[in-house]
Amino acid sequence: MNPATSPPANADEDRLQRFLFEELDIRGALARLDSAWASVRSAHRYPEPVERLLGELLTATALLASIVKVQGTITVQATGDGPLAAVMAECRDRSQLRGIARIRDAEALEAAPGTGILGKGLVTITIRPELGDRIGEPYQGIVPLDGSSIAEALEGYFAQSEQIPTRIWLSTEGDRSAGMLIQALPPELAHHDHGERRREEDFGRITLLADTVSETELRNLPGERLLSRLFFEETVALQRPQSLEFACSCSRDRTREALRAMPLTELEDILDEQGEIRMECQFCHSVYRFDRVDVAAVHAAAAPGDDQVH
Ligand SMILES: [Zn+2]
Repeated sequence: MNPATSPPANADEDRLQRFLFEELDIRGALARLDSAWASVRSAHRYPEPVERLLGELLTATALLASIVKVQGTITVQATGDGPLAAVMAECRDRSQLRGIARIRDAEALEAAPGTGILGKGLVTITIRPELGDRIGEPYQGIVPLDGSSIAEALEGYFAQSEQIPTRIWLSTEGDRSAGMLIQALPPELAHHDHGERRREEDFGRITLLADTVSETELRNLPGERLLSRLFFEETVALQRPQSLEFACSCSRDRTREALRAMPLTELEDILDEQGEIRMECQFCHSVYRFDRVDVAAVHAAAAPGDDQVH
């Protein structure tokens, strides 16, 4: 997997952009995924209802990454007892996205709209801080999967787990997925001395305006035009956009770690039967192959003081 490193040709494609209502304690973010989403989409070719949910979750995860305080990886997973068992999206360094879904019963997928295909379940948000080579303690929040859409489920997460008023709008259609997040600034970031009532009124007014956004506008209007169309009376400071791309964090080293965790006898059985061990990444379909010598080296390295078998 070689992630594209050059910025997207069109400034509005594959970008994450934060904004701030300068006179209010409210912030927001816009995300638009083009080739980042098209790559995830074409890697899997899920049935339409699953694809839409994955596109929305991927976009929402980028939006959440934009407001997370720490640098690292944010993973959002929704699991349930319905025809769709799980849908998961990950954003690393606010720029690298990957996602996956697990279908339990493909034939029953058409039965329920939106998150209904997940049935009863949970939303889990995991944040793994990373700074250079240092990986911090992960933080995890879990709430019941409420509402009929990914946006509602995540709004529920913020209401229950963080107690920060948050609204999210998402739209996925074909090879494009887009979204907007509006959030009251957490108390420690608030810079206006507005009382609780004023803060609530401001948030109510802004989200009422934001609610007039159509899915077509969300997907197609350039960020600046979208914000001036929705909030023309407000002073909105738009930050520099950040580019988004599809990139997978799998590697031969990480795959080796997975092999190390498996019993040697089990690996030898596979080698006897197939001549090699073939591991395919579920996210990007990269294939890692290990022969008998590789496997011996992996397990020799696992036993300290017994590393002569290289
Ligand atoms: Zn991969």
